[in-house]
Amino acid sequence: LALSNFDLPSLLAEILDQVSHQVPTENIDLQLSPAPDLPPCRGDRERLRQVFTNIIVNGLQAMPGGGRLTITCEHDHRETRVRILDTGPGIPAEIRKQIFHPFFTTKTDGTGLGLSVSYGIVQAHGGRIVLQSEPGRGSCFTVSLPRPIRDS
Ligand code: ADP
Ligand code: MG
Repeated sequence: LALSNFDLPSLLAEILDQVSHQVPTENIDLQLSPAPDLPPCRGDRERLRQVFTNIIVNGLQAMPGGGRLTITCEHDHRETRVRILDTGPGIPAEIRKQIFHPFFTTKTDGTGLGLSVSYGIVQAHGGRIVLQSEPGRGSCFTVSLPRPIRDS
């Protein structure tokens, strides 16, 4: 990993700008709401760009008829958390167990690699990705990254 300290909301804004040129977002309400007191994030910015891009693109693809994509960032003394919520169909329980497996996809043109690669990248940072989903209401992916120990 190429670690640096970087501003997480700026990275997320760059990603939203980039994906909105690739995936139709006309009828999607995009909301980026970082906490105002967020400290710099420590991690591999380009690898984490891949992670957030994968999760955001999945969320947009889950809402072909429109909806809302909300991204929040917050921290405590232990970790920084990025939540990416969509108002798509959600993920049924039997599929939830498989989405991080390589090559698992429900899309005709999917690779099934986005989430498995993302999982590995976040794990390499000592963090984790947790999915919460209520079928019919949407999905929420939470990426948690440990914060460096003070004075190290
Ligand atoms: P791909 O996008 O190529 O299918 P991913 O690894 O990114 O591969 O995702 C795996 C599967 O997880 C998707 O095919 C889809 O079934 C499910 N999935 C991921 N994110 C969402 C989401 N936000 N809403 C609904 N299903 C999702
Ligand atoms: Mg994907």
